[in-house]
Amino acid sequence: MSLKGKTAVITGSNSGIGLGVARELARAGASVVLNSFTDTDEDHKLAEELGREFGVDARYIKADMSKGDECRALIEAAGSCDILVNNAGIQFVSPIDEFPLDKWDAIIAINMNSAFHCTAAALPKMRTAGWGRIVNVASAHGLTASPYKSAYVAAKHGVVGMTKVVALETAKEAITCNAICPGYVRTPLVEAQIPDTAKKYNMSEEEVIEKVMLERQPSKAFATVEQIGGTAVFLCSDAAEQITGTTISVDGGWTAL
Ligand code: NAD
Repeated sequence: MSLKGKTAVITGSNSGIGLGVARELARAGASVVLNSFTDTDEDHKLAEELGREFGVDARYIKADMSKGDECRALIEAAGSCDILVNNAGIQFVSPIDEFPLDKWDAIIAINMNSAFHCTAAALPKMRTAGWGRIVNVASAHGLTASPYKSAYVAAKHGVVGMTKVVALETAKEAITCNAICPGYVRTPLVEAQIPDTAKKYNMSEEEVIEKVMLERQPSKAFATVEQIGGTAVFLCSDAAEQITGTTISVDGGWTAL
């Protein structure tokens, strides 16, 4: 599978799943645009190193995905956008009657509204190019719920709904739109929570992983960022040409329960 000649924009990609997806797309030959809301030397170095490793053009563009105008400016600054991966996301956990309004607004803006703005800005470019792939990184929480995650679950269900609408609006074009729904993925963010949770519950790190984190993941194993990236590459392949408007779960059986 070669994505040579295609440019991919991955939102929220200076760490975790976004970076993993960017690496797999670059490995497949795509030029990549990395993004986050920061603008450090490390951000730009990350893109440089990724470009060197895979022999592709790689850039870093700062844009805050909580702001609609910056989402649209990211797509403009990217130039071409053949592949759009809407990945940026944050989490906050609280009972709904105590959920802080600023956290609710930030989650809805970053996890859902940014996908709307980036998709709206990218579609005309895909139409001009005559080809496009939109991959939304949703979640098992786009298909099911957990207590205390009202904003996250609402945003991810919203992304899954938007995925279907975009697929219908582009069905007769060589453009597809799908959502990947990961279960628990071992990102640096998740990794960092393990020792603290172990201390809190007086458990070993292995017990935290199996009994707390992976309680709902029947495989009792984390998905990896490489597996999410590989799924994104598949969705960009010719084999996936007729796959549109759907979700692919990478969740070790979570949503089969
Ligand atoms: P992460 O914190 O490692 O990555 C989030 C990325 O989004 C980072 O690059 C961060 O810089 C960026 N980001 C945050 N706020 C931003 C903003 N305002 N503007 C631009 N970029 C911003 O977390 P992750 O686990 O890699 O999560 C990536 C996506 O995968 C999220 O949408 C998340 O909901 C989803 N997801 C993660 C898991 C998991 O277990 N890790 C499971 C299901 C879904």
